[in-house]
Amino acid sequence: MIPFLDLTRVNKPYQDAIEEAALRVLRSGWYILGKELVSFEKTFADYCEAAHAIGVGNGLDAITLILKAYNFPAGSEVIVPANTYIASVLPVTYLNLTPVLVEPDPRTMLIDSDEIERHITARTKAILTVDLYGKSCEMRAITKLAERHNLKLITDAAQSHGAMYDGQKVGTLADATAFSFYPTKNLGALGDAGAVTTNDKALAEKIRYLRNYGSLERYKNDFQGVNSRLDEIQAAVLSAKLPYLEAENRRRKVIAARYLSEIVLPDLILPPSDSVESDAWHLFVVRHKQRNKFITHLDGLGIQTNVHYPLPVHKQKAFQYMNDRCFPITEAIHREVVSLPLNPVLSDDEVEEIIKAVNTFDPGI
Ligand SMILES: *Cc1c(COP(=O)(O)O)cnc(C)c1O
Repeated sequence: MIPFLDLTRVNKPYQDAIEEAALRVLRSGWYILGKELVSFEKTFADYCEAAHAIGVGNGLDAITLILKAYNFPAGSEVIVPANTYIASVLPVTYLNLTPVLVEPDPRTMLIDSDEIERHITARTKAILTVDLYGKSCEMRAITKLAERHNLKLITDAAQSHGAMYDGQKVGTLADATAFSFYPTKNLGALGDAGAVTTNDKALAEKIRYLRNYGSLERYKNDFQGVNSRLDEIQAAVLSAKLPYLEAENRRRKVIAARYLSEIVLPDLILPPSDSVESDAWHLFVVRHKQRNKFITHLDGLGIQTNVHYPLPVHKQKAFQYMNDRCFPITEAIHREVVSLPLNPVLSDDEVEEIIKAVNTFDPGI
């Protein structure tokens, strides 16, 4: 069987470095807000070519803390893509802001700048772009919109560590960028972890306060903050793995390029191939009208797939008040997408096997 993602295999090449890092922290006797965090923040900021990186508890909190730091008045509108993981939308509603869902470009499945523009109102305060599947959004057009309308530009980069746009790394393309280091991400910890990157010094400082009860100095609380810190063990593990992220992303690109050139199944829509080199290829998402039959076919040949995501945010029970809204492009995407295995530890033989299995699918009638 070819599993969709085997985390034991993903972490195996770094086992010695990870064990050494975890043991170092154990023996140090210092587990929260220490030198491992400071060191990871510095190297991750450098990697993203950003002035600041702030470690936080997870990707959801990274987005929440950015929005909280901006302190928009309740009811302010934040434009978000309708097709995203629920974690992009929850921070908006959690802070009593209004998510304005907009349809993606059907080709890239990323937020569409024309749609953003159509939804800007006097109450709009921010645009939250999501680099779904590891591909940066159309930041040139979106930055122009944000500047023209005086909006903050935030990116959910939970899937796009190391991706590039116009020769620039994801992490400085927006005013603030949120990363997740959930174990399955391109850079994954051994538990929950996240970070914010930004070139805005005041914003970075505010988030440093907010992640630690609103405090930079012990028992002195300047803001009503939260507890969302990236702990020392996770920071040490991430520092051990970060040096290999570029090579892993390179391997992802090689596999993506093979899929793009060797998968030739009629009626299967492949992801756009115009930016193979700059994308981080977190997921390789294809579309088929007979998605479920396609999944069963691959499963029968021992190939595990995944669906990112089966149900759009506006159809979730958690967002019952949006259930009767209609986003036809988004809904079609959720009906048709399936993710093929794509990760740095897939062997050439496995890639070959996956391509063959895909190409032999016969949807019948
Ligand atoms: C994983 C993910 C998140 C959330 O990250 P956590 O660390 O699990 O909170 C947010 N947005 C997207 C697009 C993600 O893929």
